[in-house]
Amino acid sequence: MKHLSSRGRKRRPIWPLYVLAGIAVVLAVLALIKTVDVLDIFGDKATEPTVAASTAPTAPITQPPDEARLRAELLAECRALVDGYFYEEAISALSTMPYKNAETDALLQEARGLKDGLVLYEDEQLYHIFFHSLVIDNAKAFDGDQRAQGYNEYMTTRYEFERMLPLLLEGGFVLYDIKEMVEFTDGVAARKEIRLPPGKKPLVISIDDVCYYDYMETDGFASRLDVDADGNVVTIVKDDDGTERATYDGDVMPILDAFVREHPEFSWRGYKGIVAVTGYQGAYGYRITDLDQFDAETGKKMQDKVLEISNALRATGWDVACHSYTHNQYWTKGTISEEQFNKYEKRWDEEMAPYLGEVSIFISPNGAYANLGKNHWAIRRLVESGYVIYCPVGSGMQTSYQGDFMLQDRMNLDGLNLVLYPERVKKFFFDPSLVVDPDRPPF
Ligand SMILES: [Zn+2]
Repeated sequence: MKHLSSRGRKRRPIWPLYVLAGIAVVLAVLALIKTVDVLDIFGDKATEPTVAASTAPTAPITQPPDEARLRAELLAECRALVDGYFYEEAISALSTMPYKNAETDALLQEARGLKDGLVLYEDEQLYHIFFHSLVIDNAKAFDGDQRAQGYNEYMTTRYEFERMLPLLLEGGFVLYDIKEMVEFTDGVAARKEIRLPPGKKPLVISIDDVCYYDYMETDGFASRLDVDADGNVVTIVKDDDGTERATYDGDVMPILDAFVREHPEFSWRGYKGIVAVTGYQGAYGYRITDLDQFDAETGKKMQDKVLEISNALRATGWDVACHSYTHNQYWTKGTISEEQFNKYEKRWDEEMAPYLGEVSIFISPNGAYANLGKNHWAIRRLVESGYVIYCPVGSGMQTSYQGDFMLQDRMNLDGLNLVLYPERVKKFFFDPSLVVDPDRPPF
């Protein structure tokens, strides 16, 4: 299995680098303009009045015309850095920029104050919620067929997810990188120090089975993912007449991306969450593990697309996780055989891993763990293969460190907990009656 080592290789979202690169470019341009400016000052002063006289400006030009615009651009970039908790980066850019003024000084002071105001998050409770791909057409999902009840229990609708986000933001939650919740010393896992603004609580969001399985095709879900011209992950939705549209509200990922763009304070340094895939019907809606059903060119295109989507996810703050290859009950029962493990590990390694990038998180199928335990040979095999973060299901969202891996339970914010066990949700997050979709059939 493709992996990272238990030494805990860290990977930050890449977009901050783009922001920094952008700032570097702006600074370079500013520096260049300033250099030219300086050269002019020491240049042929005699020509200046002539030029000024010929164009006859009534007010003297006291600054290069682009100075205000460039400062405004840099200020806006630094404002975004500060709002998204990139304090060091903002401080560095603001203290080295040319054309400082009272406004840039104020933002610099604000960034320094916020950085100094970060506090150690000491509460034992970390938060991890999970979803499946969102129901985006309720009439199709809850149409009374044999799958409707399952969707009612295990799925969340777009209506509900969109209503939860402001409540989570108001509740002080901030999306936090699960990989930054653990560190390894000589291979031993322990909680890594978390520093946040006072009152903020670290939240992980994961989405299971982002495969858009065949059985869901006519049930009101997106069909697959894709990437737009700006590098954002989009959902492809099929209309009844078969035409496909790219949308930004067809699943958790683009909705959360847009929400964080609007509310950068909801994401700690650009982190979003975890997209978990199985393998038996490929990934993100592309059947890359059934290549015998396609011609070679189509197969290659699908593999390229899965890789492109994985890269776009990672570049926009997402992780990709393994949700097992088979999603079989032998995980839950703890009866998986070595033969089964080996067979599907091989398929994952050969047919999935090359298109997903580095994967260190295992999201167990059906929340499997209780019948396995940390010493089960299958868990040992996973950890040794680099899956040093293991996430089953448990509404207490307990996190523990099991020797050489981190174990973190997740709470399902689906029909079961929102409707049947609302107190579980209320205890940590919000009153589910504020978000429950009126289209849900009765349980
Ligand atoms: Zn699943």
